[in-house]
Amino acid sequence: MSFPPVRRSLPTPEAEGLITMVAEFADDQLAPRAATAEATEEFPRKILAHMGQLGLLTLPFPESLGGGGQGYQIYLQVLEEISMRWASIALSVSVNCLAHQPVVAFGSDAMKSELLPTLMSGTALGAYCLSEVHAGSDPSAIRTSAKRDGNGWVINGTKAWVTHGGAADFYIVFARTSDDPSHGISCFYVPAGTPGLTVGKRESKMGLTSSPTTLIHFDNAHIDDTGLTGLIGEPGDGLRIALSALDAGRLGIAATATGLAQAALNYSLRYAMDREAFGSQIIDYQGVSFMLADMDAQIQSAREMYLAAARLKDSGQPYSREASISKLIATDTVMRVTTDAVQVLGGAGYTRDHPVERYMREAKVMQIFEGTNQIQRMVIARHLVNGNLGKGSR
Ligand SMILES: Cc1cc2nc3c(=O)[nH]c(=O)nc-3n(C[C@H](O)[C@H](O)[C@H](O)COP(=O)(O)OP(=O)(O)OC[C@H]3O[C@@H](n4cnc5c(N)ncnc54)[C@H](O)[C@@H]3O)c2cc1C
Repeated sequence: MSFPPVRRSLPTPEAEGLITMVAEFADDQLAPRAATAEATEEFPRKILAHMGQLGLLTLPFPESLGGGGQGYQIYLQVLEEISMRWASIALSVSVNCLAHQPVVAFGSDAMKSELLPTLMSGTALGAYCLSEVHAGSDPSAIRTSAKRDGNGWVINGTKAWVTHGGAADFYIVFARTSDDPSHGISCFYVPAGTPGLTVGKRESKMGLTSSPTTLIHFDNAHIDDTGLTGLIGEPGDGLRIALSALDAGRLGIAATATGLAQAALNYSLRYAMDREAFGSQIIDYQGVSFMLADMDAQIQSAREMYLAAARLKDSGQPYSREASISKLIATDTVMRVTTDAVQVLGGAGYTRDHPVERYMREAKVMQIFEGTNQIQRMVIARHLVNGNLGKGSR
């Protein structure tokens, strides 16, 4: 089912063309496949490869490094269009960018000149391994270790919740290199296929079921420190690298959540205009139309918030506070909107004959990953306090 396009204020005709192209591609290639792939838990690697060839997996990175050279305000709207048709694919694009970010921002010259052309060619899919079973909200508690070993490093431990686990071509791994409380964690580029790296249990999830989430085990996994593999940045820089990538990643989740919420509104609006009760279309009842109006207002607010944060990022200004606000607003919005979409459809909304129950299941995790919404509030509160103590708001 296709819906009228979202009204967007785009800065250039080129950006308008990109959004139109993505919307047509997603209508044609993504929307028809989403429900079946989610039901069968099939990861659409071929579709992602095709999207890579179209340049859609690396849009926000500089053209000089082989990326798409798009500002975040454009990239995020592309993500939103993808998520409107299939949220797991938008998650994949967002996580792939999250995994590329440390190489782009902190990689050695050799990584940038020799590795990035391959990574940016669209064939490589990345994974970001920060969380562990006992360390999610508090990444400083991670236990996976990396120890010097000749001209490289040997990694031991288990990473949890790895999106693209088993499907990725490379893993960005955060591991402990010393006990220093603030500089004890380092960041590593680990190619898939490294001996000692094995893929563990695939999680059985409530939603986003086509997207694989697995444990990744490191058992004496040796990586050479060649400048192409191994350490990214300096030893001890890991937490700083992880958190800076997450600021950008949270904007990706905000856009993904906004797109999913828009899909839920579109579907429930169409249903409300068709469905009759007491001799009228249910949209004619204020109890229903006001619910839809609230959904529309909340989605537009979420969109404007992530765009405001993206414009700060695009103009080189700090945006960490705004990224957390965007993630909080958009993911709380998608949870409310998808729940209300089920309500608009009544009993039909509770069945798998309609996609809104799936949207509701998919929405929940967005309040959890890339920092739970409690953690986003902690980040926002910290900015408030620091700003009022004259320490600068970021
Ligand atoms: C589908 C999925 C995909 C994921 N993909 C990735 C990935 O690709 N890479 C990766 O590294 N991680 C990934 N994660 C992990 C995700 O980021 C963590 O689940 C998340 O950060 C929360 O950590 P936790 O699950 O350990 O919860 P916990 O940290 O145990 O938190 C449990 C509860 O306590 C609350 N809480 C914790 N501390 C505080 C506090 N100080 N104040 C108030 N409340 C608090 C939390 O908000 C939460 O409600 C993924 C998770 C899921 C579910």
